[in-house]
Amino acid sequence: MNIYWRWILFFIFSSIPFFGCTYTKAPLSDLAADSQHVITSETPNAARSDCDTLVITCIDYRFAVANQEFINNTLGLKDHYDHISIPGSIYNLINQETRSLLFSRFTSSMRHHLIKRVVIIGHKDCGGYGGSSAFGSEIAEHEYLCTDLRRARALIIEKYPTLDVDLFLESLHHEADKVRVRFEKIL
Ligand SMILES: [Zn+2]
Repeated sequence: MNIYWRWILFFIFSSIPFFGCTYTKAPLSDLAADSQHVITSETPNAARSDCDTLVITCIDYRFAVANQEFINNTLGLKDHYDHISIPGSIYNLINQETRSLLFSRFTSSMRHHLIKRVVIIGHKDCGGYGGSSAFGSEIAEHEYLCTDLRRARALIIEKYPTLDVDLFLESLHHEADKVRVRFEKIL
């Protein structure tokens, strides 16, 4: 083994403890170490029969907090709903290639809880569609997403005719130094 390769191997092996040390400092490790204390709240009044609503949202982190507030407070569903997050929610609900997989996911929710209502919350600037820029204009995006939300509702009702399906479209709005999330009910 020549000196060149020895230096390369020395570098590789001497790097392992360094990267390993970096990894153990990640926030996830801190959380795991205290996992026995992670219980944050109780839901004493939530019996299985109380959950009759399934909420479907995109996974987009920008809307996560607003979605929880909207579902809990505005819709009044706190502790009484199932929640499925789907990357590119409506896009993949409609897309024939991914639809059956997603339907199978919430079929189990239908079976295990007596779901009577589905709430779909789609959002503007969704990566599933390639973002707002893929539509050319704000009006075009709004019309396209509303059409897809209604198509998703039709597909769900076709499979589960007794369900009520409510649709909402959310979007980010910059106001002064704050970013707000607006929810629009789609009929
Ligand atoms: Zn999205």
